[in-house]
Amino acid sequence: MFRKILIANRGEIACRVIRTARRMGVATVAVYSDADRDALHVETADEAIRIGPAEAAKSYLNVAAIIEAAKASGAQAVHPGYGFLSENPDFVEAVEAAGLVFIGPSANAIRAMGLKDAAKALMEKAGVPVVPGYHGKKQDDAFLAGEAAAIGFPVLIKARAGGGGKGMRRVDDPADFAAALESARREGESAFGDGRVLVEKYMAKPRHIEVQVFGDGHRNVVHLFERDCSLQRRHQKVIEEAPAPGMTAEMRAAMGQAAVRAAAAIGYSGAGTVEFIADVSEGLRQDRFYFMEMNTRLQVEHPVTEAITGLDLVEWQLRVAAGEPLPKRQEELTIDGWAFEARLYAENPARDFLPAIGRLTVFDVPDGARIDSGVRAGDNITPFYDPMIAKVITHGRSRAEALSRLETALEQCRVGGLTTNAGFLVRLCRHPAFAVGDVDTGLIGRAGETLLADPQAPEEVFALAALSVLGFLKAAADPDPWGKIRGFRLWGAPVQTVFLDHGGAEHALRVTMLAPDRFCVEHNDIETELRVQSADGRSVRADFEGHVFSATVHREGRDIAVFFGGHGHAFALAEEAGHHDEAASGGDRLVAPMPGLVRIVSAAPGARVAKGDALVTMEAMKMELVLAAPRDGVVATLPVAVGDQVAEGALLLSLEPEEAA
Ligand code: ADP
Ligand code: ADP
Ligand code: MG
Repeated sequence: MFRKILIANRGEIACRVIRTARRMGVATVAVYSDADRDALHVETADEAIRIGPAEAAKSYLNVAAIIEAAKASGAQAVHPGYGFLSENPDFVEAVEAAGLVFIGPSANAIRAMGLKDAAKALMEKAGVPVVPGYHGKKQDDAFLAGEAAAIGFPVLIKARAGGGGKGMRRVDDPADFAAALESARREGESAFGDGRVLVEKYMAKPRHIEVQVFGDGHRNVVHLFERDCSLQRRHQKVIEEAPAPGMTAEMRAAMGQAAVRAAAAIGYSGAGTVEFIADVSEGLRQDRFYFMEMNTRLQVEHPVTEAITGLDLVEWQLRVAAGEPLPKRQEELTIDGWAFEARLYAENPARDFLPAIGRLTVFDVPDGARIDSGVRAGDNITPFYDPMIAKVITHGRSRAEALSRLETALEQCRVGGLTTNAGFLVRLCRHPAFAVGDVDTGLIGRAGETLLADPQAPEEVFALAALSVLGFLKAAADPDPWGKIRGFRLWGAPVQTVFLDHGGAEHALRVTMLAPDRFCVEHNDIETELRVQSADGRSVRADFEGHVFSATVHREGRDIAVFFGGHGHAFALAEEAGHHDEAASGGDRLVAPMPGLVRIVSAAPGARVAKGDALVTMEAMKMELVLAAPRDGVVATLPVAVGDQVAEGALLLSLEPEEAA
């Protein structure tokens, strides 16, 4: 076995590889770009070496820098992860030329499968069923249009160098063929530097079923059963499972054999996935599955296979690369139960899945699920790389059990600071067709709007968000948790309005303190009452109009995240927040309601002020707080000046006693 390996990747897959290497006693070297200086994979590896600036092209795709790092660190082998250089045969050759081992297949095997058209021709020869269509060399428009007509619409035009769902166009009507061809070419050219395409029959009711294979580079290839990745959005996987629903032993054997044939045909070594498309318009049928492509690397969704086989595929990769035989023979491999994986992304389903970059202020994950992640709370999701936050993987004895565990785990993932697809994934788990395993690649598209929009936060959540802004959910470590609030009351009437942005709209919440633990919250002209039973700054238990519930509230800067009822609700303080124009009469003192910076002082000792005059403006938690005179009077003391940082409860200004005014 290797003493030391370098992982030419980042994020969750780098962390995943490090975990297994460490368990096997193999030292690890991480590489990182400037954007990843403090990343988890850098922290967890035994050593880490900088390879360039943030842009992937200059760092994680920088072959020379990575080879240099491997040599300098004394690593004996390079694990490529997935994405980046993992399927680049020139990289494999560079690794080998440097006297290092590439943990993966040969450059030739990658080349043979690298282009979808050539791979299909090769597979046809090896006796593997391929999707009907044209995958030859001719590329002129009229010829391809003729092929499309011969195949019969709908057809799918694919960039032959494509990947990650890019460079693909479905065409239903011959009249649209020319335009679709043009745009598929353009996308192939810009994303992969190759505008050549193939044309395939578009399956009526397609299911994506892929088979995990492993080869030892000699003659031996085994398969580790199938995964169903039919839940897709724009040809990209969203939730994967193993085994495939409805799979019979006969069909599994047929697909497994076809996959093994495909890998054996190219002398495959290491982990690979043979992707098939099955036409299930008449159910899963043994004569209706077709080779689509082979991914010559570890797949994102490999954990579901690990869960049902009890194996560690990264360990297998290291063993095979180190020259050991495959750890098990085909007859020794069995399926235990069912597994799911959901890809948790920083993206906004309501805005066409726009990546949501920013700081991950909260990231709490539940027990009862395997969470593969490359980030922790406080990290930034940057625009430079894939915005995946984590893979959530569950296992159960039955499909229903594993799916119910997935739903629960997703509900319990607490991600703050960023918009995520968590709600979308939870709704997908509850989709009736998915629940019974009636999946196909069109399911998400047909479900449409119902999956996309997060429901508006319930009133309980609005109330907690407002109380959090006002500092009413503070730590229990304080022996008299409400003491501060009594202090708070000294400077004015306990009525304040909080302005919050939520779901693209601004909400005004008028909070009246009825007692230290009882509040009346007015929102959309409806008054409700909330009693805080306990609060420690994060966890809150409260009684809202007779509904007793628990929630978690996280606050950072302008952002507030309330986790309640299996859902994270995001709020942001609106610009106008904290304008305390409702100070009723009474009180002699202005105190800082929260720690902050004194921005403006509009009075001086001895000055006569009228009730409601803005006297001190503070900036606290990035919001502006205008503190107004609680009554008519004369300023007695003013112990602060512009630029002072003041603690919560600090005296800002006092008025002469009433009778002297
Ligand atoms: P897999 O085939 O392993 O399931 P995908 O098909 O989802 O993985 O993605 C194919 C490759 O493209 C993977 O190696 C993944 O790292 C990369 N990839 C997927 N989505 C993105 C993205 N949004 N940005 C950058 N790379 C991506
Ligand atoms: P990529 O390299 O982007 O992963 P694939 O060829 O694997 O491209 O196809 C991606 C997805 O597109 C598949 O998982 C499937 O959902 C859909 N797809 C591909 N070929 C067909 C087809 N012939 N008919 C219907 N859907 C298809
Ligand atoms: Mg694919």
